[in-house]
Amino acid sequence: MRFRNLTRRREIGANSYLLECGRHRIVLDSGMHPKGVGFAGLPDFGPLPLNSADAIVLTHAHHDHIGSLPVLQRRQPDAPVYMTEPTGEVGSAMLHNSVNVMTHQREEDGVMEYPLFTHRELDELRPQWTYRDYARPFEPGETGIDCSFHDAGHIIGSAGVLLREGGQSLFYTGDVNFESQTIAQAADFPTEGIDVLIMETTRGDYTRPADYTRRAEKERLAAVIRETWDAGGAVLIPVFALGKTQEVLMMLHELYEHDLIPEMPVFIGGLSTKITVLYDHYSNRVRRHHPGFHLLEDIEMLVAPRKRRREINYQPRSIYALSSGMMTENTTSNQFAWKVIERPHDTICFVGYCDPESPGGKIRAAKPGEMVKLDPKLPAVPLKCRVETFDFSAHATREGLCTFAEKVRPKKLLLVHGDEPAQFWFENRFRDTLPGCEIIRPSLHEAVELW
Ligand SMILES: [Zn+2]
Ligand SMILES: [Zn+2]
Repeated sequence: MRFRNLTRRREIGANSYLLECGRHRIVLDSGMHPKGVGFAGLPDFGPLPLNSADAIVLTHAHHDHIGSLPVLQRRQPDAPVYMTEPTGEVGSAMLHNSVNVMTHQREEDGVMEYPLFTHRELDELRPQWTYRDYARPFEPGETGIDCSFHDAGHIIGSAGVLLREGGQSLFYTGDVNFESQTIAQAADFPTEGIDVLIMETTRGDYTRPADYTRRAEKERLAAVIRETWDAGGAVLIPVFALGKTQEVLMMLHELYEHDLIPEMPVFIGGLSTKITVLYDHYSNRVRRHHPGFHLLEDIEMLVAPRKRRREINYQPRSIYALSSGMMTENTTSNQFAWKVIERPHDTICFVGYCDPESPGGKIRAAKPGEMVKLDPKLPAVPLKCRVETFDFSAHATREGLCTFAEKVRPKKLLLVHGDEPAQFWFENRFRDTLPGCEIIRPSLHEAVELW
């Protein structure tokens, strides 16, 4: 079994990995780079000849794992695509949205290769998709390889992948969380008999304060919301449509139920609503907290989202959980930011990762009163509102990843899905704690013999 990295750099980019086993080929994930423009945002499928893949296996529906799937499927038309059912249904909504975003970028920014795929093509590719449940082994394609999904606790439908072949085994974590979130339960991963571990390293460069608890962090969010309400202001929470929106909604509901925040209208919009419908649809069929709870119906404070995309009006003493999480230009959270950024009584609460170059990243880094660019094409505005940042990450801490890897004790450990400093941190740590384990930071297309 041989591994090749199809991700262009050592970073959280367009994740995709190729496994070659005799004449068989399996592709793990097919992401799109969150910042890459046009073809440069795709993985480099170079070592994968046309129509040579036996199967494609996807871990979850985030853009950096599923975003280039239609392009890959076009080149590999006979390969069945395996994923959990929520990943497929949510992924379909994400990919259709991606067509709209790319079409807009073609018109606005003149990216002529966009859209890289169309709504119609997406519908035509769907028959190749095959859903599999957690912990139910299956054979991907006709490969003689044994495969199973295991709940990764990251977002709805997220899975780690266990592959067994010729008495050897490999486990790919995908994106994982070993701690419970408000909706998602912690990952349920196997730890026995794994020879090769391919592990995400997203938070390898981050030390969480020793006294951190998710509960205390939620209470701090509640205090900020209360103070903003008392001052007569509004709260903007920029969120990713998939995962973070639903997590924040559930959190707000809990805070209200525990009398930690006053009753106030909560607004969401656009793609978030579509994805939330799917979270509600699967509320009884996935491993999660609050089973059966329907976010859209059961949260009384939630203002029924409008079907048609319309500008969201500002009203004080309200909460706006709007995508995107990084406040990228032309998204609802960016448009809404113009209404709050100059109001001293309003608050922007960041609850997830922001690229430093994104408008969200710039607001986080700015000092009060500093001029900030919300859109490169428009003039800068002074930052007058309050800005607070919270840690509600959907990724495992580096300590959590270490505990897992040190329990598994693989013979080979491949570090992926992280920036170089993050990977170096793990490499250093495992040199001491996993003696005899070969630690590999695979570069683009480098062939790594697994067994
Ligand atoms: Zn993810
Ligand atoms: Zn990811």
